[in-house]
Amino acid sequence: MTERLVVAIDGPSGVGKSTVAKRLAERLDVPMLDTGAMYRAVALSVLDQGIALADEAEAIEAATTADVRLRREADGALEVTLDGCAVGERIRNPEVSEATSRLAVYPAVRTRMVHLQRQAAAEHGAVVEGRDIGTVVFPDTPHKFFLDARNDVRVERRRAQLVAAGVDTDTDAVAASIAERDARDSAREASPLRCDERYHRIDTSDRDIDAVVEEMAASVRAATHARDSDSS
Ligand code: C5P
Repeated sequence: MTERLVVAIDGPSGVGKSTVAKRLAERLDVPMLDTGAMYRAVALSVLDQGIALADEAEAIEAATTADVRLRREADGALEVTLDGCAVGERIRNPEVSEATSRLAVYPAVRTRMVHLQRQAAAEHGAVVEGRDIGTVVFPDTPHKFFLDARNDVRVERRRAQLVAAGVDTDTDAVAASIAERDARDSAREASPLRCDERYHRIDTSDRDIDAVVEEMAASVRAATHARDSDSS
């Protein structure tokens, strides 16, 4: 099989990863893979079963056996499914966000998700967004981006997303939830969010999304060109 294009995008919540990943994937003609949606689907399954997260053994058992998969749609998209159905907007509510970051600390929960991510990207190529994509899932891809933004911008973006999804919330609650989630995602032992010198780092705070996507596409083109020249 020829090697597929894999672009890794990591960063904390509210930096615009999903929007950027979607547009970059269109530009590069590969599917976008939202790995956060996979962990969210796991959490939704655990919550739907009424399992208390404080009961660690039971929560891990339910999370590792949740029937989360990636389905290739007719239009080429990679859809996250839970028990055979597309997960939809329910995975975006604040209760699911909190449960997701609590369950994502367990290595056993991550193993199957990482396997599914690697399998899909090997088959179709992908722009993959998450927290550990360039560090753990695809450490060998030369295309690694770390998106960041000022805290106030991130809070406002997340609030707007929640409002658009019909969730009633206020700025303080969003700020507290983002801070708690970021701390957990960065401090955990298993696959923490980390930026290193191999990443192309972009602050999206005051940038136009299309300009960010253009910068990333140019970087991918340049790295691909340099690789092709080296191997010829
Ligand atoms: O990106 P999103 O906000 O949807 O991610 C939800 C949660 O899923 C994150 O806060 C993090 O705990 C977890 N996650 C992860 N690894 C990834 C993607 C998401 O641990 N690759």
